[in-house]
Amino acid sequence: MKIDILTLFPEMFSGVLGSSILKKAAEKKAVSYNVVNFREFSDDKHKTVDDYPYGGGAGMVLKPQPIFDAVDYLKNERNANPRVILLCPQGEKYTQKKAEEFAKEDHLIFICGHYEGYDERIREHLVSDEISIGDYVLTGGELGAMVMIDSVVRLLPGVLGNDESPIYDSFSSGLLEHPHYTRPADFRGMKVPEVLLSGNHQKIKEWRENESLYRTKSRRPDLMEKYLLEKNNNIDPLN
Ligand code: SAM
Repeated sequence: MKIDILTLFPEMFSGVLGSSILKKAAEKKAVSYNVVNFREFSDDKHKTVDDYPYGGGAGMVLKPQPIFDAVDYLKNERNANPRVILLCPQGEKYTQKKAEEFAKEDHLIFICGHYEGYDERIREHLVSDEISIGDYVLTGGELGAMVMIDSVVRLLPGVLGNDESPIYDSFSSGLLEHPHYTRPADFRGMKVPEVLLSGNHQKIKEWRENESLYRTKSRRPDLMEKYLLEKNNNIDPLN
């Protein structure tokens, strides 16, 4: 997968893309990252990327020209038809399902906004997806792009040591994941559930499934409702 990131703050990405799984994924050639300062694409002599809003009001608006030109350049260079993702608090809320969808693509371009927002023509005519990482407002799209890139790259084949692990992660099945324990079996009087020490794989599987259902029902009833609906099964497995 190729990931291009358009930002005014490229330095923000070096720590995240150069660490842990995201770094290893690039070393394994599962992904390549290209961080581009779209200021370089500005066609005015001062390299400005923003301007005052028509109609007046507070804040500056990102101009269409540098962002359109940067995306055109990247598309031509890669000779590809990428998903062009605009980070935006007004976009579709990001979920694991969306991460799974993006992980199937060959080429993603992320556009990180700043200031008051974007010229509306960017949304209307350039991007394929507008994504919000949650109902709050960030200073810029960079942190959102990092969140999305992390969640997508860890799903690429061969990136995680144990290829099965993303399948059991919270949300992948529609449920929250079961609890985990490691040694010691007794820590300051706090004991690991007996069943996990039993060596009975069937019982452990059942315990995990029940815990996963219980957690989802108690912490995220919205997810539980969706899970039951999607299973086309309105019987609550915990009742
Ligand atoms: N005035 C805009 C509004 O009310 O919708 C908010 C602009 S925000 C200060 C600047 C940039 O941060 C946005 O253009 C977007 O790229 C990014 N951003 C802020 N909150 C975000 C969120 N929840 N999800 C994704 N991107 C976000």
